[in-house]
Amino acid sequence: MRAGDTIMALSSGALPAGVAVIRLSGPLVRTALTFVAGSLPKPRHLALRAIGASRQLDQGLVAFFPAPHSFTGEDCAELQVHGSPAGVKAILAELRTQGLRLAEAGEFTRRAFENGKLDLVEIEGLGDLLGADTEKQRQQALARYDGRLTAEIDIWRDTLLDLRAEIEARLDFSDEGDVSEDLPEHWQVQLADLELAIASAMASVESGRIVREGIRVALAGAPNVGKSSLINALAKSDIAIVSDEAGTTRDVREVPLDIGGQLFLLLDLAGLRATESRAEAEGIRRAEQAIASADVVLWLRAPDVPDVPRPTTNGRLLVVGTKADLGPVDGQDLSVSTQASQGLDTLVKTLGTLGESLAGAEPALVSHERDRAALANALDALAETRNALGDWELAAESLRLASAALERLIGRLDAERVLDRLFASFCIGK
Ligand code: GDP
Ligand code: ZN
Repeated sequence: MRAGDTIMALSSGALPAGVAVIRLSGPLVRTALTFVAGSLPKPRHLALRAIGASRQLDQGLVAFFPAPHSFTGEDCAELQVHGSPAGVKAILAELRTQGLRLAEAGEFTRRAFENGKLDLVEIEGLGDLLGADTEKQRQQALARYDGRLTAEIDIWRDTLLDLRAEIEARLDFSDEGDVSEDLPEHWQVQLADLELAIASAMASVESGRIVREGIRVALAGAPNVGKSSLINALAKSDIAIVSDEAGTTRDVREVPLDIGGQLFLLLDLAGLRATESRAEAEGIRRAEQAIASADVVLWLRAPDVPDVPRPTTNGRLLVVGTKADLGPVDGQDLSVSTQASQGLDTLVKTLGTLGESLAGAEPALVSHERDRAALANALDALAETRNALGDWELAAESLRLASAALERLIGRLDAERVLDRLFASFCIGK
């Protein structure tokens, strides 16, 4: 990135469109906006302007956001013009004559990071928000973008500084006898409270993951119990292959479903049975893996198909009797018939309730693997501090490590690698 130059982008998506939003950021924004819109509008107010310097190209609304109170922290502007491919092209060409260049993916957000407007955790929240498909994902992403985790981390970092100050004082003055060797009584309490706070934030990582990635629901059982038919009926479309021939579903197929604002991934697995076929055996091996790691297993049994041994799972288990039009099966928690359209609403409702309990009522504070790893490092370092009391060098060093883990999480340390990967998934103009 060439810092300090002025960037522009069509931020509103593909043309033609009702409205196109052109975004600018950098030191040349004032002169460039004056050039194409006649004069600078009052800061943070929309003004209707003829757009075009030598000839009128369009008319539209322009807004100017002077530094530092802008998204990037630099001078920024937005032009809302008609979403015409030719019009936008002509406006960008005029802006280019003023020394502006097209932005790279995520470059506006990168500038916001570099100017301290957003930290790494908040940028990840923004990325999640842009990619949110379900209501739960939107809530969780917005909470992160809004700085809920950042605010917690700030408190923890302050506490770490307090704790360190006491230790560092003992390092500096222990020879001179100015500081009593014993730590003040509240120090231990503060350390314990901090460990507790971080540990309880980490407890939400599972629900956070489930909201971001979806609840994995394995539909499993013997061949021909009706897995594909049930997935099709649930998705109300022909996504999975339905066939009379046993053993068609060899790959693990994922069907995404939004139930009550929560993402579910229904896994249509190979039917389990003894087989001579190498390909089918591979499908069965994958099915067993998927069952083991699923959040929920729907174990399907049909009246016209002998049951098979059920593999173990860490997920919640529901026994679903299929083909209820043919009769019940032993031990069913629920029964459905895709042919007679029975029991599907109850099954969806049951999944929805399960989803609410797995995802939690409140947006999770911690939802990325990166969060979990950083907080685990911080906790390890704090445990080391506890063991090192008396050895002030070591205690100070482990407290520094705990701080570094939190700094890394918000991007104060080693942010480049994470940012590069993150912005690869951002769109131009964000
Ligand atoms: P899978 O191998 O477990 O995926 O099973 P399929 O969904 O391919 O279904 C196997 C057979 O059972 C097909 O012939 C379906 O038509 C039939 N089938 C599926 N659902 C029902 C049902 O609700 N009632 C009846 N009577 N037959 C069903
Ligand atoms: Zn199938």
